[in-house]
Amino acid sequence: MAELTGRVAVVTGGTRGIGRAIVERLVAEGASVWVLARSVDAGRALEGALPGTSFLATDVSDPDEVTAAAKEITRVAGRVDLLVCNAGITRDDLLLRMSDDDWNDVLDVNLKGAFHCLRAFLRPISKSDAGAVLCIGSVVGTMGNAGQANYAASKAGLVGLVRSAAKEYAGRGVRINVLAPGFIETEMTEVLPEEVREPLLARIPLGRVGSAEEVASVAVFLLSPRASYITGQVVAVNGGLHP
Ligand code: NAD
Repeated sequence: MAELTGRVAVVTGGTRGIGRAIVERLVAEGASVWVLARSVDAGRALEGALPGTSFLATDVSDPDEVTAAAKEITRVAGRVDLLVCNAGITRDDLLLRMSDDDWNDVLDVNLKGAFHCLRAFLRPISKSDAGAVLCIGSVVGTMGNAGQANYAASKAGLVGLVRSAAKEYAGRGVRINVLAPGFIETEMTEVLPEEVREPLLARIPLGRVGSAEEVASVAVFLLSPRASYITGQVVAVNGGLHP
């Protein structure tokens, strides 16, 4: 039997990229997966293409929408076992040119979005006998990156959020970790110009970018009972790229 048969999972931003790869792996392991994302067209297309998925149009930066999604999923599915806070955006600029909007938008989605989801879903997840949460951080959260002060701050903040939540919920058997990818080929990174890609690639010991599937296989491991003694950790999937 597949490892996650009967489990109900929630993945934010699961319509494309790393989130989509995680959704596909969770479905392959037998889980029913609820995808929360903003794009209704992409969400409906995913539902049609991948049996085992259900889509709810949700902006994770809006606490009321996240709370409504949690209520709806608990009402329909009757339980939630697994949560992946994956939704993330970038609004890059050098610090002195960074607008308040660029700062706030990135923090609102990447950090507050994860907080909204943890707050809304931890109660149902704590009733599971195998509850687990994963937040998708970034190597940039520890390394820093010129032009990404807002993004780096949001991903560093996730580590403090997750380590605190892990301590609060360990007693209820819920494991909560950060998975920190390095440079992964997705629509988020395909927009990077060659002069940014080349020096980045040169710093990766494995000599190549990673794939969303390589992140997803570690994500599903961390969500599975095989990772039953891992909580409050930051697990890197970055080809050896270190700060
Ligand atoms: P992506 O842009 O391809 O996908 C991001 C997803 O998040 C999309 O489905 C998007 O619709 C969704 N999303 C954005 N804002 C949202 C909101 N307010 N509410 C709900 N959904 C929202 O990006 P990706 O490369 O797949 O990145 C996924 C995660 O991995 C992000 O958190 C990103 O920061 C992180 N990450 C990516 C890389 C990389 O190299 N690609 C590296 C490190 C970390």
